[in-house]
Amino acid sequence: MDKIVSLAKRRGFVFQSSEIYGGLNGCWDFGPLGVELLNNIKQAWWQAMTYRDDVEGLDASILMHPKVWEASGHVENFTDPMVDCKQCKARYRVDLLFESLPKKSKKHIEDKIKATLNSEVAEVNEITINNYFSDNIDHFTADITCPTCGNTGTFTNARKFNLMFKTYIGAIESEDSIAYLRPETAQGIFVNYGNVKESTRQKLPFGIAQIGKAFRNEINTKNFLFRVREFEQMEMQYFVKPGSDDELYNEWKERRIQWWVDLGIKRENLNFAPHPADKLAHYAKAAVDIEFKFPFGFGEIEGIHNRSDFDLSQHTKFSGKKLDYYDEQNKERFIPYVIETSAGATRGFMAFLCNAFDEDEAPTSEGKSEVRTVLHFHPKLAPIKCAVFPLVNKDGLQEISQNITADLQNTFKVFYDDSGAVGRRYRRQDECGTPFCVTVDYDTLKDNTVTIRERDSMQQERIHKDKIKMYVMEKMMG
Ligand code: AMP
Repeated sequence: MDKIVSLAKRRGFVFQSSEIYGGLNGCWDFGPLGVELLNNIKQAWWQAMTYRDDVEGLDASILMHPKVWEASGHVENFTDPMVDCKQCKARYRVDLLFESLPKKSKKHIEDKIKATLNSEVAEVNEITINNYFSDNIDHFTADITCPTCGNTGTFTNARKFNLMFKTYIGAIESEDSIAYLRPETAQGIFVNYGNVKESTRQKLPFGIAQIGKAFRNEINTKNFLFRVREFEQMEMQYFVKPGSDDELYNEWKERRIQWWVDLGIKRENLNFAPHPADKLAHYAKAAVDIEFKFPFGFGEIEGIHNRSDFDLSQHTKFSGKKLDYYDEQNKERFIPYVIETSAGATRGFMAFLCNAFDEDEAPTSEGKSEVRTVLHFHPKLAPIKCAVFPLVNKDGLQEISQNITADLQNTFKVFYDDSGAVGRRYRRQDECGTPFCVTVDYDTLKDNTVTIRERDSMQQERIHKDKIKMYVMEKMMG
C-alpha cells in the first residue's frame, strides 16, 4: 500500500488536500493523471449504465430540501454511537473502541452485553454493540480503559453522532435554514422519479443514473481513498414492478460484477458479500456488496440493494405528492420497488489503481534486466493513451513526432517526450500506465512507419504512422 500511495503522489495521481497547510483529514485532490483516470472510470460507468434504452441520466443538486433527509431516515438513522475520553479528549466510534480493547476486557464486556440483552444473542458483533451502547448509554463505559491516555472510567456516555455535514442556507443561521451536504446521490434520483418518468415517458422497468459528490463526516477515515469524507458515487436506481424485483436484483448483481471484470479486475479478486437478513439496513429487502481484494484485505466497492418501495413511499408520505405508477396494460396502480446499484468512483479509483500496480522485470539497453514499476490499466481507463518519442532530437524526427502528437490529441490524451534515452522514456510511461509508446526513427523518414510498443508485453511492431489512431482506438474499445 505504501508503494502505491507514494507512486500516486510522485506521478500526480493523488495529493493530500490542502497539503501545504498540513492536509485535511479524509479529503484528497486528484492530480493531472488522477483526474484523467477518474474521468475515464466515470465515463466507462456512464456509458455502460446510460447508453441503453431503459436508463436515463440525471445530475441533481448537492443541497436538497431538509425534509428529504427526514423522509430518507438519514436525520434519524445515519449515525454512529461515539464516546469521548474526558481526560485526553480522544473520540472513538464505539465498535472500533471495542475492537481495540485487549482480549480480556473484550470478553468481560461481551459477557455483560449478553447478560443485559438477556436474549439469544449468539455473537456480539458491530450491530449488537452499537445497539447496546445506543440503548444503554453509559452502563459500561466505566470499565473501559482509554487506548490513547491509559485512564480507566474516563469515557463520556455514548452519543449518536450524525454523519451528515450540516450547513445553513441564506444569511441567517437558524434551525429553519439548516441544509445538509448530501451523504448519497440516491435521494436526488428518488425525488426526481416523477419528473424523469413524465419527461421521458419511460415504462417500468426503467432506471435513473447519476454520478456525483457525496459527503460523510466519517469518524475514522482510513486506508488512503477507501474511507474518506468527500467522495464520488455512481448510482443507479432501477424502478421495477413488485414481484419482478428478485429476478432483476440478480440480473443487476451479475451485470455489475461483470463491469469491473471487463475493465481489467480479475474475477478472483472480486467477491460477493451478501448482507445477512438480520444485518440489513432499515430500507432493504436484500443487499450484497461487491468487494475487491485491496492490499489490506477485501473491502466493499459497490452495493447492490433491493430497497423495496421504501424510498418512494417515504417521499410520498413526507411530500404529499403521489410517486406511484399506473400500469395501463393491467389497469393497476402501485409504488414501484427499487433495485439500486451504488458504486464508489473514488473507491473504484483506488481499486483500479491497486489492481493495476505491479513490479516486474524489463530489459535494459545493456542487455541486463531491471525491476520496472508498471500500472496495467485497461487502455480505456489509462490516463494517457499513447506517448510519442523522436528517437533523436535532430534530422526532422522531432517535427514528425510533434505532428503525430497533434493529430492524435484531437481524439485522446497523448504525451510527447524527447528527453533521455528511449528506455528511460518507456519506464516513465509504464509507471503511469500508458498502454502504447510510439517511436519515430530514421525508417520513418523513408517509409512513414513508426515503432509502436505495448506496455504489458513490451512487444514492438511497425505500423504506418497514419494507422496509429485506429490501432489505439481498437485496443481501447477492447
Ligand atoms: P453506501 O451508500 O454506504 O452503500 O455506499 C455505496 C458506495 O459508496 C460504497 O460501495 C463505496 O464505494 C462508496 N462509499 C461509501 N462511503 C464511502 C466513504 N466514506 N469513502 C469512499 N467511498 C465511500
